[in-house]
Amino acid sequence: MRGRQLAGTLRTETADRAAELAERGARPHLAVVTATADESSAWYVRSIARSAEKAGLGCSVVDLGPDAPANAVRERLRRLSADRGVHGIILQTPLPEGARLEELASAIDPVKDVDGANPLSLGRLATGLPAFAPATAEAVLALLDHHRVELAGRHAVVVGRSTVVGKPAAHLLLDRNATVTVCHSRTADLAAVTRTADVLVAAVGRPRLITPDHVRPGAVVIDVGTNPTPDGELVGDVDPSVRHTAGALTPVPGGVGPVTTALLLQHTVRAALTL
Ligand code: NAP
Repeated sequence: MRGRQLAGTLRTETADRAAELAERGARPHLAVVTATADESSAWYVRSIARSAEKAGLGCSVVDLGPDAPANAVRERLRRLSADRGVHGIILQTPLPEGARLEELASAIDPVKDVDGANPLSLGRLATGLPAFAPATAEAVLALLDHHRVELAGRHAVVVGRSTVVGKPAAHLLLDRNATVTVCHSRTADLAAVTRTADVLVAAVGRPRLITPDHVRPGAVVIDVGTNPTPDGELVGDVDPSVRHTAGALTPVPGGVGPVTTALLLQHTVRAALTL
């Protein structure tokens, strides 16, 4: 289940909408706030900025440095929230030692919270109110829809309960009438639970944790994991040998990742249309 074709379609739609807005004199603008020296984060931010530019969106990267105090990050998010020229705001992780994403992201105006990081966005999502879902969680659903995977009445197992991926993915699957189980590091006998999944979502951050033993033959497996290896490659949370057991598997790279970036841009244009 590759993501590049879907990402391409989403990017084209976004570019068309951005062009319509530009004709009316409004250019959607995304601000990415970073406070880290992490190399893979810097790579990701550059790739967002490039994609934004290609789609005709403005993008500014606000680099506060790895030693930025939490207050400085919060204050910058507040200023960007009040800036009429900015339509979408992302707070990039990792954050400086001791800072919590959920706490800092509360300073992002929910209407500009295009990566669903403000706890208000997750609360709205969980209660069925309109909100931006975290783009990665939404990318899971977008891929399942694109590949016409039926969800109603099926058992979806999400491995990982983070507020950026696991929890929102579980809410989105529940909204689509799947029966959802969420696993985590304290789950007893993970493989016994994941083997009951019709749809298995791995969002763990442990390279190749999910092996054929964890997968029911024919199940659909979505690999959210992006784990850098010492030789600069990217591997998922799912061992590639799972493809012989699964009915379908998303690749890493080239699965969830490109769809996530495309959705961030789509959200930014949507925010620009409402602001
Ligand atoms: P995270 O905040 O570290 O959460 C990891 C989750 O996995 C936690 O809930 C943890 O359980 C659980 N876990 C850890 N070890 C486990 C084990 N052995 N068995 C079962 N569960 C286990 O990570 P995240 O931010 O959700 O990211 C997860 C992965 O997705 C990472 O590889 C990340 O790079 C990737 N990611 C990809 C994209 C994309 O666009 N493709 C975007 C975001 C993240 P506890 O809660 O009990 O600790």
